[in-house]
Amino acid sequence: MTLTTEKSKASRTIPQTDPHASYLAYQDGLDAAWSRVMQRGRYVLGTEVSAFEAEFANFVGAAHAVGTASGTASLELALRALGIAQEDRVITVSHTAVATASAIKLAGAEPLFVDIDPHSYTMDPNLVEDAIRNDRKRRRIPTIKAILPVHLYGRPADMKAICDIASRYDLRVVEDCAQAHGAAIDGRQVGCWGDIAAFSFYPTKNLGCFGDGGAIVTNSGDLARRCRTLREYGWDERRNSRELGINARLDELQAAILRVKLKHLDADNERRRAIGDVYRRGLQGSSIVCPSTTARALHVYHQFVVRCEQRDALRIRLAELGVATLVHYAVPVHQQGAFQSCAAYGGLKETERAVETILSLPMFPQLDIASARYVADCIVHSANNVVSSAC
Ligand SMILES: *Cc1c(COP(=O)(O)O)cnc(C)c1O
Repeated sequence: MTLTTEKSKASRTIPQTDPHASYLAYQDGLDAAWSRVMQRGRYVLGTEVSAFEAEFANFVGAAHAVGTASGTASLELALRALGIAQEDRVITVSHTAVATASAIKLAGAEPLFVDIDPHSYTMDPNLVEDAIRNDRKRRRIPTIKAILPVHLYGRPADMKAICDIASRYDLRVVEDCAQAHGAAIDGRQVGCWGDIAAFSFYPTKNLGCFGDGGAIVTNSGDLARRCRTLREYGWDERRNSRELGINARLDELQAAILRVKLKHLDADNERRRAIGDVYRRGLQGSSIVCPSTTARALHVYHQFVVRCEQRDALRIRLAELGVATLVHYAVPVHQQGAFQSCAAYGGLKETERAVETILSLPMFPQLDIASARYVADCIVHSANNVVSSAC
């Protein structure tokens, strides 16, 4: 590619993500949906929420879905519904959105971080088992009560290994599915592997509303009932708070919007995979490392995260060429102020190494294929320049 064609294209910037484009793509259905809610006059926990809950549970392949105010609230309520509380520890990863660890703390428990597998960016199951063995050896009363894997970037964590460990040690499993709506292992979707799962519908997620929203998914009627109580002040049928709950309700506008967008989720995820294929082909033979995949795990590319040397220089060069990128996440959770006192088992070498080289390329279903090709061309071109100018 010549610099002149680059420059003419760079007059507009390709965003890293673009929820407004998803509004324009489905505008007719969305406008009708929110207008219907406005006219009906019920705005919180009504027929749109119950209908969405049934449709979303059906999509995931689980018995129950409970709409909530956010992914963070979903995780917190899921943990509390399982009875996780003070003195308990929950094994999770530090290479994730901070909300994963916040929710554990908000439930009153403590996160215990383990390292990631450097290829999948998800929890390394071997370390999970080592951490549990170590806990049992050292403490008369075991402190680890649950495992909280994150299906980061849309790639499923190794749920077979994790669920196997959980059943051997009688631990609960909470799946963080905030980035993985529709991802699956051997045809079974994430969200129905563990005891309970949390989803976020933040606008940029694979299924996003236009505000905040979330859902808890489970096959257990008891857990679903507990979550419904906890999301609304701990109320029973008589509006008597028998236990301490919070306000974490999903509203009707967001539910109506989600019902429209859910119909397009499979096609949207297909489109993310098509963009991923364009990136893979375009970056083949370069020094850029593309995400690893397996035949059994269906990746839904919430993010397309590559690894590259001199990442920061590459980012600047791409920005000059009109390609926006982000780093998910620049600071591992265990190095952030609120979590510095949290324990880690076995060191977090791969977590700390990943943040040096990861880069999230533009990825959203409305990104056109020509733009994706341009992004890949710019990366190959820039990576060569960046490396040679550093020599
Ligand atoms: C977005 C996200 C959350 C939190 O969801 P909110 O709806 O923003 O509260 C939790 N975990 C992961 C992995 C996320 O990406």
